Amino acid sequence: MFCLVCMTCGRTCADMGAASCPHDGGFLDVHYDSAEIPLRDDLPGIWRYAARLPLTDPAHIVSLGEGDTPLLRSGRLGADIGLPQLYFKNEGLNPTGSYKDRIASVGITSLRQQGLNAWATVSSGNAGAALSAYGAQAGADGYVFTLERAPRAKIAQIIAYGPRIMSVRGMGYDPKIDAETWENARKICEINNWLMLITARRYSPQSMEGAKTIAYEVCQQLKGAAPDVVYVPVGGGGLLSSIWKGFREWRAAGQIKRLPRMVAIQPQGCDPLAQAWREQRAIKPLDDCASAVSGIILTAPPDGDLVLSDLRESGGWALSIADEITYQAQAELASGEGLFVEPAAAITWAAVKADLAAGRLTGAEDVVCVLTGIGFKDSKAIGLMTENAPVPLVEAEEILRLEP
Ligand SMILES: [Zn+2]
Repeated sequence: MFCLVCMTCGRTCADMGAASCPHDGGFLDVHYDSAEIPLRDDLPGIWRYAARLPLTDPAHIVSLGEGDTPLLRSGRLGADIGLPQLYFKNEGLNPTGSYKDRIASVGITSLRQQGLNAWATVSSGNAGAALSAYGAQAGADGYVFTLERAPRAKIAQIIAYGPRIMSVRGMGYDPKIDAETWENARKICEINNWLMLITARRYSPQSMEGAKTIAYEVCQQLKGAAPDVVYVPVGGGGLLSSIWKGFREWRAAGQIKRLPRMVAIQPQGCDPLAQAWREQRAIKPLDDCASAVSGIILTAPPDGDLVLSDLRESGGWALSIADEITYQAQAELASGEGLFVEPAAAITWAAVKADLAAGRLTGAEDVVCVLTGIGFKDSKAIGLMTENAPVPLVEAEEILRLEP
């Protein structure tokens, strides 16, 4: 069994639908009776780890086959820079193309578990698509509030799954509008008895449990060892914080002996957390966002405080990467490894190179990059990668004149 416990005051919260502690607004963390993680091979996808997920009855499970994504050892890029033990966790192979499917599976399962039939979210794209897909499978009504400038391919994917979708003027670029959007989404959920599903531990502590299964899988794929360093793109911060929780739980279950260092990567034009880390201060929301790396451009990261504490606890660090370096990294992953990922995922590879050059990595470490989403989702980034590559039109007979 599981319960929600406030990370500030330690009280147990009786309301299983609560987003935060009713006494002090603190983060709620999901606690379980036992530290053991017996594997349930009879259940689909991430539900193999049902003992550490907020589930009361397997009959509620909504699954599209999320999880079990490959951990690929780098074929070329790692060796080229002197980091032979480089691995890529390819989360783009989840059913809707991003790690958000792990969260959506738990979120829509919670929806069923709580006897509700509609949900709403505020999303820049990937979470909206994931929730819409799982919501469609469960037959639940969905409402998606998205950024004014969200990538069209992400929006198109959401539309295909059939929820109601609206883009909110100014959202993603003005912290005041962001706050108002989130607050109003919360209110309309309360009025209509919808479940608010936001991929942040600050708002959806239960759903976010899905993301920690990435850490379990990585340890299993590394034959029972934790990597030395894990690179995670950070927008809101919930992914890094959940993965760190996963590693700690896997160790508490006796499966690994030591924990990895966690590295948070942010786009330079929108890096409130990395700035706070460098200046050793609290996170201050930014007034504007000058990055176009969809998925990780949040001016006020809801789980940022958790990430700062996780970085300190794990002996990790944070860094920022310029957009043009991220786009270059995206092209390198495609042509150098056969991995077509979105820019928000490629930023991890850019960060590994930067850290090796700066001496923060020696080259002897086992390093895992969490590649959060697939490349098809951001057509503007695809354009940047390919616009200068001509595709000449030739006659069939000219093929024989091709010189290697
Ligand atoms: Zn509390």
